[in-house]
Amino acid sequence: MAKNHITLIVPFLNEEEALPIFIETVDRVLTSLKKKHKSTKFSVLFVNDGSTDLGELIVSKARMKAAQVQLVNLSRNFGKEQALYAGFMHAKGDAVIPMDVDLQDPPEVIEEMITKWRAGADIVDAKRARRDEDTAVKRVTARWFYKIFNIFAERPIAENVGDFRLFDRTVVEAVKRVGDRKRFNKEIFSWIGFKTDQVEFDRPERSTGQPSQSFWKLWNLALDGIFAGSTLPLRMWGYLGFLIALMAFLYMVFVVLFTLVFGRDVPGYSSTITIILFFGGLNLLSVGILGEYIGRIYTEVRDRPTYLVRSTMGLDDDA
Ligand code: UDP
Ligand code: MG
Repeated sequence: MAKNHITLIVPFLNEEEALPIFIETVDRVLTSLKKKHKSTKFSVLFVNDGSTDLGELIVSKARMKAAQVQLVNLSRNFGKEQALYAGFMHAKGDAVIPMDVDLQDPPEVIEEMITKWRAGADIVDAKRARRDEDTAVKRVTARWFYKIFNIFAERPIAENVGDFRLFDRTVVEAVKRVGDRKRFNKEIFSWIGFKTDQVEFDRPERSTGQPSQSFWKLWNLALDGIFAGSTLPLRMWGYLGFLIALMAFLYMVFVVLFTLVFGRDVPGYSSTITIILFFGGLNLLSVGILGEYIGRIYTEVRDRPTYLVRSTMGLDDDA
């Protein structure tokens, strides 16, 4: 397998401020990289996730000394997960590296990733050494998300590793074969397996602008992750039901014996209402969980495309 051509996949949504800085910085880093690795070829595949600003124009005019600039314009905003998938589908490299436009994934790390890839790793994770740049709230929610996710997940996902990783061509083909409509890349990346190595880096602050992944978007992503990565929430109700039935049985034995020994008790309004409310709550909760899965089955069954391409630039398959 050849290990020469590397494609950076860069999804972006309304990043007209960050794009020029990204293009300039990456070109500078890649140029110095190419001095050491002469035969290595780079392409930068931008995926325009429905931007409404000048981003498309900036990218289509951009020229890089060290890399070929490619562009896929999606027909609307499909979200980062789907935009990244579109990138995987169009990338031509022997390896691909997804990157954020805001330079929070520092291009300086690429060199070490390539070295580990050439030494035989199929996936090279870039692990954040610290997350000081994130708000305290985001750090805490992230930590709890990983904790809860990994209780449920078939395969645990790596903490503090984002989408910034190097994937060998064989892995790219594997990711393309995972046909989930609603995609949660981190879960997919851990599910596929393969030989994984890692490099560490300090995550810098966003170069410019504000994070566009709102709390609500991340919350939904977390739910997608949990329900896509596990059927445990669906199955656990059987166990809970068994436990409650067991407790109810023991209580029944107690009540019968109590009545036999001490005679009839005063009818217990509070215990009855408590039990009714408790089971009402349990029922609603389990129906809600069923709903989560049925909703997801519905999206998968409709089998709609996960993204649509409006136009492309710089790819061989351009018509
Ligand atoms: N992004 C995207 N589509 C979206 C939201 C974000 O392509 O619907 C891009 C965004 O332009 C950036 C990357 O995904 O290049 C990460 O977004 P952001 O920095 O807002 O997220 P965070 O770093 O906080 O996870
Ligand atoms: Mg960011």
